[in-house]
Amino acid sequence: MKSKVLVIYTGGTIGMVKSSDNTLVPYDLNTILTQIPELQRLDCELDFCIACAPALDSSNIQPQHWVTFAQIIQKRFHEFDGFVILHGTDTMAYTASALSFMLEDLTKPVIITGSQLPMNILRTDARENFITAVELASGYKKGMPNISEVCIYFGNMLLRGNRARKLHTDKFNAFESPNYPPLMEVGVTLQYKNNFFSYEPKNTVNIFTELDTCVGWVNIFPGMSATHLEYALTNCEVKGYIIQVFGMGNMMNFEEYQEVLRKVANNGTILYVLTQCISGGVRLGKYETSLPLLMAGAFSGSDITPEAALCKLMYLLGKYGVNKIKDFLGQSIKGEMTV
Ligand code: ASP
Repeated sequence: MKSKVLVIYTGGTIGMVKSSDNTLVPYDLNTILTQIPELQRLDCELDFCIACAPALDSSNIQPQHWVTFAQIIQKRFHEFDGFVILHGTDTMAYTASALSFMLEDLTKPVIITGSQLPMNILRTDARENFITAVELASGYKKGMPNISEVCIYFGNMLLRGNRARKLHTDKFNAFESPNYPPLMEVGVTLQYKNNFFSYEPKNTVNIFTELDTCVGWVNIFPGMSATHLEYALTNCEVKGYIIQVFGMGNMMNFEEYQEVLRKVANNGTILYVLTQCISGGVRLGKYETSLPLLMAGAFSGSDITPEAALCKLMYLLGKYGVNKIKDFLGQSIKGEMTV
């Protein structure tokens, strides 16, 4: 029996065309499909679904779209062996991270892909990305899916979705997962390693859609005044902040900054500490300059990506609220960080 894959189209460069003002704008799914007759030669059955009408540049993808994607996957879960989401690259790592948490007990492949050049450009990377993503989503061995998690496939790399980042604007291999090895580097053959999650496939998936978007994100920089820091960390709408600091979790520790952090802690606001470095993680307590964060009750995000941290905060705040979230921030829920 042939595997069945649902292709969910959201937009992105993969389906874009030049508009009259010479900018790239998303176009319809049929245009993509006519450019890629090879799909008919694949050894699986494909069905297509339009998740965003009109199709979107992924800069316009919002949490409510993640909910739509999760609902489509849940609704049609029993019909398909795997899912491919065609998505713009700019916010692909956010969507992948969000879905990794929202599809709570996922047992089938969800592969997100897109491209750096539109499908109708001769040198496009879209064709290879799309075809291999479908192959990956349709791969089963002895009734077990080869992949049972949310991944990004791009530029010959298969990456855990909540570990991936778009690190290059103009390379064909735009994505990397600096703190986790690629699940697969695709060459002549598809070589599955054993670093995937692997589950007995079920015909249902639980989804969680009540994300709480009252989150904030603050980057510390040399010259940032304590007044600026206080302003940035005391927005009364925000329940939890990602605070991106230097190196292993350090920031200015002069008294006026400590005073701000104490105030924030007294407000009961969550601080989730991430490094500004591309790879490696946070170790609060290693340097004296990390102590004010520790004393303010901040949580270490270890080596989580900012994209995954943001989505994890939204998910945990929505699911458990400010008080109970503390039990989960330090845990790896879907392989998103090293503990
Ligand atoms: N701006 C585009 C998008 O994210 C870029 C891309 O798809 O590569 O939708």
